[in-house]
Amino acid sequence: MPLKVFRESYRLHLSIGSEVITTKINNDIKKPFIITVDTEGDNLWAKRINDFIPTENAMFLPRFQRLCEKYSFAPVYLANYEMVKSEAFVEFAKDALARQTCEIGMHLHAWNSPPDYKLPETNSSNLPYLMEYPVDIMEEKIKILTYELENTFDTKMLSHRGGRWATNDDYFELLIKYGYKVDCSVTPYVDWTDNVGYSPNSHGTDYSCHPSSPYRIYSKKDKNRYLIEVPVSICKIREVIKPDNEGIEENVKAAPSAINEQRIWLRPQRNNLNKMLYLVDILVNDSTQYLEFMIHSSELMHGGSPTFETAEDIEKLYDDLEVLFEYISRYCYGTTFHNSIEFLEKISAEEISNE
Ligand SMILES: [Zn+2]
Repeated sequence: MPLKVFRESYRLHLSIGSEVITTKINNDIKKPFIITVDTEGDNLWAKRINDFIPTENAMFLPRFQRLCEKYSFAPVYLANYEMVKSEAFVEFAKDALARQTCEIGMHLHAWNSPPDYKLPETNSSNLPYLMEYPVDIMEEKIKILTYELENTFDTKMLSHRGGRWATNDDYFELLIKYGYKVDCSVTPYVDWTDNVGYSPNSHGTDYSCHPSSPYRIYSKKDKNRYLIEVPVSICKIREVIKPDNEGIEENVKAAPSAINEQRIWLRPQRNNLNKMLYLVDILVNDSTQYLEFMIHSSELMHGGSPTFETAEDIEKLYDDLEVLFEYISRYCYGTTFHNSIEFLEKISAEEISNE
């Protein structure tokens, strides 16, 4: 998208909010920008337990990687089991790793990660969370996938995100045991408990009261060991932000949700470029110490997700990403969890000492 168009849309979102966001951006110090990619099979939103999972989307990652490298960003590919078994993904990721332009982390989908374990019969057509399995099976699943990733890529796994954003104390304890340093499963202000799992009474994790800045999760068994939680960039606002598609009707439709508060993610969801730019302004101007973007690998392939179904949807996504990344590059520098461990140690420790 030409910069002129971007500037116009940017002015629009500045003028519509009930409180005009300052345009004076503090760019004296650039903030770290981390791109996270949940790297998993095609269109899992349409899949059920035991369905075959294709991994065609691996073929579409080089385009995204090139865009990231254009702005000196290095994505963190949080890969699950079917992807570590995808030749196309492994070849692509090894090349980026060799050039030090990405990090590989772990993303665990309990329903398609060995060992197999049959959960009790249920009528649910939903996918199970890892925490629905006995703790020894949870551990085996974490152990096997960690081994597969470390063995395939010849590098220590340091970062992790739970499948369907789910975590609990047992999960954190196991991640610490297997040498993980960073978790990025927390989605501040978001409660996933309405998202049921496979077993009766199972549900997602409630992060509605979790911090939006990095904090430490200490082992219950060894107080010297901990994970650093690095939440996804999400903010909660009560303002109307003009959707990308023009028209007063869209603003009228958006108004009630703004009055009821809305959560803005640093995550493309079609027609939300203005919202993401608005969020970047907030994060760059406030005391936030980093920006964390997320996308699924399958969202980079047309038909790979319900959000981006057609080739035109993908072109629009890339137009938006180009604008977003160019804008972020003015105020941030690209990094990975692996390369930010010292920084994250420092800022998470400071938060603890303030308590
Ligand atoms: Zn996932």
